[in-house]
Amino acid sequence: MAARGTACIVAVLALLPPLAHAQGRSELLDRLVRAYPDALATHDDTTITWRDGTVMPVDDGASDKPFDQLLRNASILDQMRLSYPSGSAGPPAVNADPGRFRNEAFFKKMYGDCNTAEVRRNLVTITWLSKSWGKPVQVTRVNGVAERLKQVSAEIDALDPALRAAAFPIAGVLSCRAVADTGRMSMHSYAAAIDLNLKVSDYWLWAGKGKTIPYKNRMPQEIVDIFERHGFIWGGKWYHYDTMHFEYRPELLEK
Ligand SMILES: [Zn+2]
Repeated sequence: MAARGTACIVAVLALLPPLAHAQGRSELLDRLVRAYPDALATHDDTTITWRDGTVMPVDDGASDKPFDQLLRNASILDQMRLSYPSGSAGPPAVNADPGRFRNEAFFKKMYGDCNTAEVRRNLVTITWLSKSWGKPVQVTRVNGVAERLKQVSAEIDALDPALRAAAFPIAGVLSCRAVADTGRMSMHSYAAAIDLNLKVSDYWLWAGKGKTIPYKNRMPQEIVDIFERHGFIWGGKWYHYDTMHFEYRPELLEK
């Protein structure tokens, strides 16, 4: 039944945006190791090796996972499956969610399990927007996230007041919770993500249940650019958008 087989393949492919990376797995894994120099030591074709000697498989042998499975059971290579468009970009294509495929074992190893003391012992307090808001916020120090957020904060504080108003009050950093539609831990579980001002934010689940999701955004590009320069991706570049959300994912911004 070749014809039916072909139709099935076409139907499955239609659910996913095309693989944007022309790079092979070796180049993708090079980028991953470069992006997390404190944590990762090296890789070969099938594994990554952490600096403490832990070895993890980079894929699970499944090459044709549907979108729902990529959200729920991403391998380490799946995390980098879709390229993230840095800088100014138009509305995302259907199911273009670069960064929403996360391998939970990888991030738990990196930042700890928020159900134990592992995440808490790496928390440090920074002041968010000391010139315009000035409230303490607890974030992870792993991978230099706290230091990077201090720089992000200083740069946002230097923006025009009308622009920086989108960055406070913040809606939160640490929250030990799973993402609603994936069942997997959010980057907030690791204190490596920040949600900005709820009042100027848009979220795909608020858009109603149409056939496709109409894109909305009120987050200034200037704020997005600052976060991206420091290794944070923005949830406004997802088809399933979340425009107040930024998370530390340098592997998707590495050139
Ligand atoms: Zn968030």
